[in-house]
Amino acid sequence: MEPICPITSTSANEISALLSPPSPHQLQEYYHNVFSTRHCSDITIKQDDNSGKGVYAAIDFKEGELVLKDQMLVGTQHSSLQIDCFVCSFCFRFIGSIETQIGRRLYLNELRANESHGCDEGSSSNSLRNCDEMDSTDEDESTMRCSSGSSKTKVPLPDGVVESLMNGQLRLPCTEKFSLPPSVPCPSGCGEAYYCSMSCAEADWESSHSLLCTGESSNPRRREALLNFMKHSNETNDIFLLAAKAISSTILRYHKLKANSLAEKGKYDASCVFDHYNFSLLLEAWRPISMGYKKRWWDCVALPDDIDSSDEASFRMQIKELAFESLQILKTAIFDKECEPLFSLEIYGHIIGMFELNNLDLVVASPVEDYFLYIDDMMNPDKEEAEKITQPILDALGEDYSICCQGTAFFPLQSCMNHSCCPNAKAFKRDEDRDGQATIIALRPISKGEEITISYVDEDLPFEERQASLADYGFRCRCPKCIEEET
Ligand SMILES: [Zn+2]
Ligand SMILES: [Zn+2]
Ligand SMILES: [Zn+2]
Repeated sequence: MEPICPITSTSANEISALLSPPSPHQLQEYYHNVFSTRHCSDITIKQDDNSGKGVYAAIDFKEGELVLKDQMLVGTQHSSLQIDCFVCSFCFRFIGSIETQIGRRLYLNELRANESHGCDEGSSSNSLRNCDEMDSTDEDESTMRCSSGSSKTKVPLPDGVVESLMNGQLRLPCTEKFSLPPSVPCPSGCGEAYYCSMSCAEADWESSHSLLCTGESSNPRRREALLNFMKHSNETNDIFLLAAKAISSTILRYHKLKANSLAEKGKYDASCVFDHYNFSLLLEAWRPISMGYKKRWWDCVALPDDIDSSDEASFRMQIKELAFESLQILKTAIFDKECEPLFSLEIYGHIIGMFELNNLDLVVASPVEDYFLYIDDMMNPDKEEAEKITQPILDALGEDYSICCQGTAFFPLQSCMNHSCCPNAKAFKRDEDRDGQATIIALRPISKGEEITISYVDEDLPFEERQASLADYGFRCRCPKCIEEET
């Protein structure tokens, strides 16, 4: 049954204003601010009539040179991998210590294995979850996940070892070379968010966590709804968590802008403190999200391979219902009358669609992997000595000891980069890139004024397969390589 969202009709005008693409002037102004806050003058954003926005080099880049580091607007770790990597909830840096990373993973994996007796993940939610995970790496991941539930390849540690790893009593050899920032729990005590520093805790609180925290300070009804929302997202699709962060950050920005404007007015007119709903401020608060290209999620999500095209309409309806279900729970948790249009199914669908279409991976390499590689590289007799302690731990972790932190994020600049099957740049993390920022590296020399392109798909695939994958992003590639191969 088609879900009916009353806000979509009562706020129709506001919704269409929110969804109308930014003017060239707004676009220039927004990116100008982004560049100046980041002290970045190496690239520019230009808009042209054919391909929309594009990123252009403002200086010459050498091959292998860093083109850009892009701070995410919102991001989230994949919930299925949260067990494996203990990272800062704001910048996604690994935190704690090598010992706590390992101890926590072993402890939580055991807990999960006991809970689920194998790997029945709930088949009904699986088909929906998979619909947004297009790349095959996710699939490998889930098969790996499943095998990790069984202890076939793993040798459990003796009783007490996992605990002493977690509480810091057991120190592993040479881990001082891999020190991580200590973990800072969310000051409101939700027990869900941990940070690498107080400044990340504060930044996250200001950006969205103050609305999404389930700690003591939130009221019980909201807290229950928030927990429900998170459970629903974990069982269906992580992308809802990202949408909730986008909405929360817009609401918080709105209230900040409103407070500033009241303070400003108050200087001139003390009677003017009771201001009311101000839509132009909401539009301004929404600006960062307005920059991303978007369509309704249920219209743009790629049809999964296992769904017949004759069932497409019902599949899309199911997606729409799922989004509506999620939105209703989110509304109970964080509804704000002054920001009502944000809670319409139309806006919610477009926010999720934006993440779908910009499908940007968040990846942070694991220091646990580096640690075991370091031990493996050591010389005897030190190596032998160290391995007496580390080998049983490696055996307990099994093959997936090297799992990195993975998630989805929206990067304002990277998302403006157009695709090419012969790109001149790519997303690539160097050894020193230890947080969730996107890093773009030049693949060959790029001269000033040239457009910077990345490949959204594996550019070594045959022509037809590339075009099929790119169709999911809603376009047909006309890059030099495609033009050449088409004829
Ligand atoms: Zn951090
Ligand atoms: Zn919290
Ligand atoms: Zn192409």
